[in-house]
Amino acid sequence: MTPTTINPAQRGYGITYHLHATNYCPGCGHAHWYIGRATAECAFCNTVLPLGTTESRDRNYVLAS
Ligand SMILES: [Zn+2]
Repeated sequence: MTPTTINPAQRGYGITYHLHATNYCPGCGHAHWYIGRATAECAFCNTVLPLGTTESRDRNYVLAS
C-alpha cells in the first residue's frame, strides 16, 4: 500500500456541528439536535453531523492520564 498525501485545501466542503452555537440542519433547516459523544443527529430528519470540536460537553470531565 502506498502512502497517501492529503491536501486539506482539496477535501471539499465539510459540515460539522459546533457546540455552543445554533446549528441549522443542512437537510431540513431545523435546529433541534440529539448530541452524542462524536456526532449530532437532527431530531426531524435524522441527518447526522460529526462534532466539529474535541471540546468535552462537560468541562468538569477530565480523562485520566
Ligand atoms: Zn434535519
